[in-house]
Amino acid sequence: MNTETRLKTSVCILGSGPAGVVLGNILLHNGIDCIIADRYDRQEIYARGRAGALESTTIELLKKHDLADMIIKNGHIHDRCEFRYPDYSIVFEYKKLSGGDVHYIYPQSDLNDDLIQKYLNAKGKLLFHHEGTKIGQTSDGIVVDLYDKVNHKSVTVDADLLVGCDGYHGIARQSIPEDAVSVYNKPYNYQWLAILAYAPPSANHIIYALHPDGFAGHMLRNEKITRYYLQIPLGDRVEDWSDERIWENLQRRLAKKDWILIEGKIFEKRVMSLRSYVMEPLRYGRLLMAGDAAHIITPMGGKGLNLAVQDAGVLAETLIDYYRGGHSLSYLDRYSEIRLPYIWRAQEFSYSMLNMVHVPEGNDLEDIRFRHKLSQSKLAQLTTSATFAKNFARNYVGII
Ligand SMILES: Cc1cc2nc3c(=O)[nH]c(=O)nc-3n(C[C@H](O)[C@H](O)[C@H](O)COP(=O)(O)OP(=O)(O)OC[C@H]3O[C@@H](n4cnc5c(N)ncnc54)[C@H](O)[C@@H]3O)c2cc1C
Repeated sequence: MNTETRLKTSVCILGSGPAGVVLGNILLHNGIDCIIADRYDRQEIYARGRAGALESTTIELLKKHDLADMIIKNGHIHDRCEFRYPDYSIVFEYKKLSGGDVHYIYPQSDLNDDLIQKYLNAKGKLLFHHEGTKIGQTSDGIVVDLYDKVNHKSVTVDADLLVGCDGYHGIARQSIPEDAVSVYNKPYNYQWLAILAYAPPSANHIIYALHPDGFAGHMLRNEKITRYYLQIPLGDRVEDWSDERIWENLQRRLAKKDWILIEGKIFEKRVMSLRSYVMEPLRYGRLLMAGDAAHIITPMGGKGLNLAVQDAGVLAETLIDYYRGGHSLSYLDRYSEIRLPYIWRAQEFSYSMLNMVHVPEGNDLEDIRFRHKLSQSKLAQLTTSATFAKNFARNYVGII
């Protein structure tokens, strides 16, 4: 008995993270047939707590497509952040400096789930628990093999185009031959410990602490949960970091006179390796790449989710024009042409901000001392150079 199911669509989207569901919603709204497939179910996707800071540019894009109502209703506006040294701090008012733009703090899980709901409400086809296993291209179509993890069946999707929104570890990226794209890859020689605790935020804004023992971050999630980051050496494992050691390091690195870091029960801690990665162009034949599948950025500056949503917005508009205009495949190259300059600007911003607040690692002590002074000099310019501060604020709140 043949248990295989065969489906047909214009655009198959692999992955229902922010890139996939933003794209799916816009395509559906514009009458372009699509199918989204994700290897997990809705609850599993929701459980993957991640980003929280949405840039003004991302909000504008979501508003344009009627996808921002829940963020506007439930998100918290942020207009400043703080950089701390052991002996002084800079409260950086980026709303004022950028000409009025702000961040909306809204958990990625909620954003993603709202967008899934909107897509389902619009009768969008979303196959949960369907894992992409193989991609094959012909001159007139692309074929995606999915494995239905619940019914243990194969599902094949025949599409005009496939969009890889399946993250850095997905199959879309791996299906592209090495010599078909240029890849830029930068690992780092330190890593982060990412911590979530049942503790109310200890300040109403994000804090970046530059301490001789390493970077520490205080990021906001909601009234009951706070996220923290610690710079840790490569090779350290979660087991090396007891809760006591984490709080002791956070207390020391984030310390400020007359300020109290509120502790709580730690319920998640994981080691995050830092990486910067870009593939270009963002098209290989009938396969287009968006979000983390196409580029990875360090978490510094909170750009990853924003890039994913903005990729999806530009790609959706390109695809709408492609179908309405009856263009040839090469028309789709404009997606890469528009997005890559922004992606690189975000990479440059995130990289330089990372260096600004991290203690360099390595064996060359002279080099470390030198680079540490450069970072301090750059950070100081936030208060000594109005031009630098304005430019930094602009890029921090949304690259335009
Ligand atoms: C701890 C942490 C904190 C972060 N903080 C921030 C922040 O503050 N600001 C910010 O902007 N960014 C942040 N990021 C980055 C941000 O979360 C990502 O950039 C964003 O999720 C990328 O969205 P995406 O849709 O491209 O990919 P993803 O969200 O990774 O979605 C990919 C989807 O593809 C599915 N998938 C994978 N493989 C397959 C397959 N073979 N078949 C079918 N489906 C598949 C997955 O299940 C997943 O649902 C953070 C990331 C982490 C890990």
